[in-house]
Amino acid sequence: MHLIVAEKNISAHRIAQILAGSHKLAEKKDAGVSTYSFDDTTTVGLRGHVVEVDFEPGYENWRSETYTPRSLIDAKTIKVPTEKKIVALLQKLARHADRVTIATDFDTEGELIGKEAYELVRAVNKNVKIDRARFSAITPQEIRSAFANTTDLDFALAEAGEARQSIDLMWGASLTRFISLAAKRGGNNILSVGRVQSPTLSMIVDREKEIEKFVPEKYWQLGLVTEKSGELIEARHTNGRFKDQNAAELARDRTREPLIVTEVREGTKQDRSPSPFDTTTYIVAAARLGFSAANAMRIAEELYMNGYISYPRTDNTVYPASLDLNGVLAAIRNSPFKKEVEWILAHRRPEPTRGKKSSTDHPPIYPTGVATKEGIGEDAFRIYELVLRRFLATLAPDALWQTLKVNFDAGGETYTVTGGLLLEPGWHAVYPFSEAKETILPVFVTGEKLPIRKVNLDEKETLPPARYTQSKLIQRMEELGLGTKSTRHEVIARLVSRKYIEGNPLRPTLVGRVVTESLEQNADAITKPDMTQMIESHMQQIKQSERTRDDVIAESRSMLHKAFDQLEANEQVIGDDIRNRTAEELTLGRCPACGGTLAIKHMRGSTQFIGCSRYPECTFNIGLPVTQWGWAVRTDDICDKHHLHFVRLVRKGARPWDIGCPLCHHISSNAESLTEIPSMDEALLEKARARHIYTVAEIARSEPESLVKSLDLSPEKAQKLKGEAEAVLEKLRRRSECRKFMRNHLIPRKGRSYAKIMDTLRQAGVTDLAGLSRASPATLQQAGIGESEARDLLAEARITYNGQLLRETGIPAVSLKKYLAAGVTGPEDFVALGPEKLAQLTGMSSGTVNRHVALACGYLHRPVPVALPKAKIAKGRKELLSVRGLVTTTADKLIAAGVISGDLLVAADAKKLAAATGIDEEKIRAYQALMKKKMENAIIRI
Ligand SMILES: [Zn+2]
Ligand SMILES: [Zn+2]
Repeated sequence: MHLIVAEKNISAHRIAQILAGSHKLAEKKDAGVSTYSFDDTTTVGLRGHVVEVDFEPGYENWRSETYTPRSLIDAKTIKVPTEKKIVALLQKLARHADRVTIATDFDTEGELIGKEAYELVRAVNKNVKIDRARFSAITPQEIRSAFANTTDLDFALAEAGEARQSIDLMWGASLTRFISLAAKRGGNNILSVGRVQSPTLSMIVDREKEIEKFVPEKYWQLGLVTEKSGELIEARHTNGRFKDQNAAELARDRTREPLIVTEVREGTKQDRSPSPFDTTTYIVAAARLGFSAANAMRIAEELYMNGYISYPRTDNTVYPASLDLNGVLAAIRNSPFKKEVEWILAHRRPEPTRGKKSSTDHPPIYPTGVATKEGIGEDAFRIYELVLRRFLATLAPDALWQTLKVNFDAGGETYTVTGGLLLEPGWHAVYPFSEAKETILPVFVTGEKLPIRKVNLDEKETLPPARYTQSKLIQRMEELGLGTKSTRHEVIARLVSRKYIEGNPLRPTLVGRVVTESLEQNADAITKPDMTQMIESHMQQIKQSERTRDDVIAESRSMLHKAFDQLEANEQVIGDDIRNRTAEELTLGRCPACGGTLAIKHMRGSTQFIGCSRYPECTFNIGLPVTQWGWAVRTDDICDKHHLHFVRLVRKGARPWDIGCPLCHHISSNAESLTEIPSMDEALLEKARARHIYTVAEIARSEPESLVKSLDLSPEKAQKLKGEAEAVLEKLRRRSECRKFMRNHLIPRKGRSYAKIMDTLRQAGVTDLAGLSRASPATLQQAGIGESEARDLLAEARITYNGQLLRETGIPAVSLKKYLAAGVTGPEDFVALGPEKLAQLTGMSSGTVNRHVALACGYLHRPVPVALPKAKIAKGRKELLSVRGLVTTTADKLIAAGVISGDLLVAADAKKLAAATGIDEEKIRAYQALMKKKMENAIIRI
């Protein structure tokens, strides 16, 4: 069997489809992993890396005395499978293979993934022939030619990848542990440090400092407006920016009519067609269309794997001679851009454009197949269009501009204006993503005198350097040799997820800044790009077999040890510095109750609140929503009344929730519930607030003695107040339970506000689950809930509420399950159904059922039905069965409903009995008539 190993499932599928040609392709799933077979060939896809490098066991404990952060530098590493099912299947298939072809992506990462597969195969099959297929696009032509010309795995390239992996692991792990331990941070709050990540963060921090240091300078710009052939034209003073206001005003005052044309210079300008896309220029162009770097790469990879574009991770901006450009044009001729392709075929330049970077691994990004908007979705189609049009632009002729420069003199001051006219649109005809703005000027003649309609002197200010956008940062990282084309956007995404940077354009958070500055002061090697650049050049040396992997790793180890010498000497300083400066970020101001310090506290899990530094002596605290609603941070605004910092909840991908002054918010959001306490009058409320008591819960949980003291009450009144507060608290609890129920059972919808629904329900008297379970569908519909949704919601509410009540009756859980399974939904059912019916439905003994019925009746404050002796029931049944047409099942139903004699049948309300038994009302009336007749006959006979 010939086994082909691709990098992903989707590429395995495409490759199989292409190689199978007209043969039928069989897809099989083994433990959830797909394989595609034809003839004697099977393809399987990995999930990128299926093994991961990790330290050998023993290094798990961060606080171990023996295995310190520094010890991680020299720790031995092992490869652990991360995709166990795929690894197992790969090895199962490899055992029976007589040829294995590695068809992973064609770059360092792909070669390393290929080597991982190679090792897994070798481990189970010592002698199988293993070769490598390299291709830059998953198109029939490329794939067939790659499989016809397979080579060997490039072990040097894979080793470069392995070296990078090992070095990144040892840098990241040892430094992250060191800094986190120094700053006493753990769990979700660890401070991560990385070989590429930290210098990148440092660049963003440096830019922010430049912006903060920046002092804007004033400058002046002088211009005038003239008129020619009825058209107003603006000309600029040739001096450009005036730094001196006096000089600018002098020039303005000297400017006077006539405005004389001193020179008219005509020319043409070539506007070169753009060069082919490499990863970085592609990301920059996609950013102009509004795609983030990570999103642009994700979409490009999908397009690649589906055969629409070539491999998007490339450093090359020169089409290799081997690339068949005619073939590419033919492949996209039937795309939605047929018109543009045909225009290129008619106007094609002799040679395509070339960029500055030429490498041998991959060609620049180009389109490989036909995609439609309906087929791939709007976003992917916009990216496809960008790549396709860029490819066409590189084959399009240069554009030609006619330029015009006119110089003027006005009282000795010189002015100028320039115009541009697109003579030949060239590549602009197929590439609308870069603007071609024309400025058409009327005809001017030298010596001509013109009027001056207006002279403008504008005062302006110099601007600070701009923050980095994601695409600008990626460009800068490339210039500095930070990261690779494959990792740069991932590094930025990690910095965002670590909460080191935020926003777009990017700015550092306080934590990001503090960590960077602390490292800069104490171990600058980690934040400077130099060391990372050196390691990148070592990678190149490994690729060219000039150095070995072990040699490079050893050098990296010694560099890191040197950094640790510095770090360990300063551990205390670094830790204190980071702790003090990040703690400040959470401090809000003075505690109103005791004068201590209020700060935001983030607990394990999702709890967060504002607490006092003097806890437990001072228990003052303000609750905050759980972190799912946003991570609480302080802002720079301060409350005029309470002198506390404002609080904001920030959530990824959502607008921040501004709480404002937490104390103002706390007081106002609890004001209404406090007034629900009957004895809480205006005067008492004032007193409570003066004592910093703002919530019902605080009163309910206080000892009456302390209320006597703090609120100046008599012991009786304090006791009463506490009792009332407890009742209100219970009401609030039920209200919030009801709100939660709504949130859990009503599907969120655009324009649906739970607060609004609850408000409408409250007006209809529905404030808790009990009320909801009794509400009518009409009430819910008034609150804007659709008819069928309302019905479902009410049914669900009844089940939930009755379930709660059932649990409160004291019936054991095991039995409750049986009742629920039999359709019993609430305590009322115990009374309605009666013990006989319940015993029948659940299969439990009548003794047990009788006990449960007694519990339910007790809970509902109803009299317990008297248990009926068996003999009496037997007699009753006989009596009932004597009625003509009344069969056994009907008799059982009647008995279960408590009708255990002829008397009771005759006396029963037919309608109610029908409802309780499910027997047709007309039939019951008929039985009643027959029974009555029978009984009368019996009396007569007597
Ligand atoms: Zn306090
Ligand atoms: Zn306030």
